[in-house]
Amino acid sequence: MNYFSTNNSNHKVSLKEAVIKGLAPDQGLYMPEKVPVLPERFFKQLSRISFREMGYEIIEALFSDDLSPSQIKELVDHTLVFDAPLVKVEEGIYSLELFHGPTLAFKDFGARFCSKLMSMLQDKREIKVLVATSGDTGSAVANGFFGVEGVEVVILYPSGKVSELQEKQFTTLGGNVRAIEVDGVFDDCQQMVKRAFLDPELNGKMLLTSANSINIARWIPQCLYYFYAWSRLPQNNHKTVFAVPSGNFGNLAAGILAERMGLPIDYFVAATNINKVVPDYLNGTAFSAKPSLQTISNSMDVGNPSNFYRLLALFGNDESLLKERVKGFFYTDDMTREAMRKVRAQTDYIMDPHGAIAYLGLKDFMQAAPDRFQGVFLETAHPGKFRNVVEETLNIQLPLPERLQAFMKQEKQADKMANDYAEFKRFLLEN
Ligand SMILES: *Cc1c(COP(=O)(O)O)cnc(C)c1O
Repeated sequence: MNYFSTNNSNHKVSLKEAVIKGLAPDQGLYMPEKVPVLPERFFKQLSRISFREMGYEIIEALFSDDLSPSQIKELVDHTLVFDAPLVKVEEGIYSLELFHGPTLAFKDFGARFCSKLMSMLQDKREIKVLVATSGDTGSAVANGFFGVEGVEVVILYPSGKVSELQEKQFTTLGGNVRAIEVDGVFDDCQQMVKRAFLDPELNGKMLLTSANSINIARWIPQCLYYFYAWSRLPQNNHKTVFAVPSGNFGNLAAGILAERMGLPIDYFVAATNINKVVPDYLNGTAFSAKPSLQTISNSMDVGNPSNFYRLLALFGNDESLLKERVKGFFYTDDMTREAMRKVRAQTDYIMDPHGAIAYLGLKDFMQAAPDRFQGVFLETAHPGKFRNVVEETLNIQLPLPERLQAFMKQEKQADKMANDYAEFKRFLLEN
């Protein structure tokens, strides 16, 4: 199967090129040329098979032109090493917990799949993945790529500008993950990475790539857990709605991909904080990027959501169909905190600020809907990852999750570097 650019459907590349390049040369996002529809037989048995078993069939439908059955099995087995439990929170309302991976956020799914797929597509030359991070991307990518053969990861981060916990998650692994502590700010790190991608001498000597969330290898596997969640809902005649806390809108776009593959989800809720350009668009304003604003759900502080054009492409660029199936809602920090308190008081369930926004969107959608619905909101991060906000909002003590405690006990290993491209280049050539 080929992949086209959202900016030009005539520009088509192979799977390998789409994954190694990440972004199309015209800055568009790659999309599968055709979305396969799974047979009725598949959906009939879904509630009886395991997450991995459904994963094999879904990935096979998407990638069988390019990967062998044993490669598909290896990919899925490598990705689905932790659960995504569907937890009932209230009557008809379920939380899909996507935070049981190594860095306690849903990005672990995409990062694990991406690393394995890159390793399979590389031929002789080792791939070097360069990542500039202000915190969370570094930890998901480092842990997703750790120990994967044929792929080396170099993470650049601004010295003193990431929290100790974040730093520990990408500087303590060793092996194929190297961290560089740059005497500068995040933009300096980003600048050095961008220069390296454009440097002819480096590119002649090594295969450089990025692992940002635009890459199809990080985006596509996120469709898997929508199938799983749907299969574990009670079987009744209620309609189904999924609410997705959104920033760059990759996660929501992956849910729509699942729906386009035949999964009977009736509606989606696009829930954001006050960075609300997509809800505004869905409610009738023209789409226009804005500078991002800071909130307590900071992983969604995005003013120019890069996956917006994927949402459109999935509906064949039919804007009215997109607006009919996806409903937009946004919430302030105060509303987010209030929802966290209310749900904790009424049900004992602790939501992180991102999940709380999806919960609010789900409630508002269901209250206004004329039909009987059952709804799922995606819990994208463990509450312990946003411990300060959660403790302060709920007035409780939250123990640091064990997995994060384990990182804190490890020794940091990072190469210090000036904000100097020549030094970075020498490092890449020598290592
Ligand atoms: C990245 C992130 C999001 C936003 O996901 P998008 O795919 O960018 O919309 C939501 N919640 C958490 C915890 C995240 O880390």
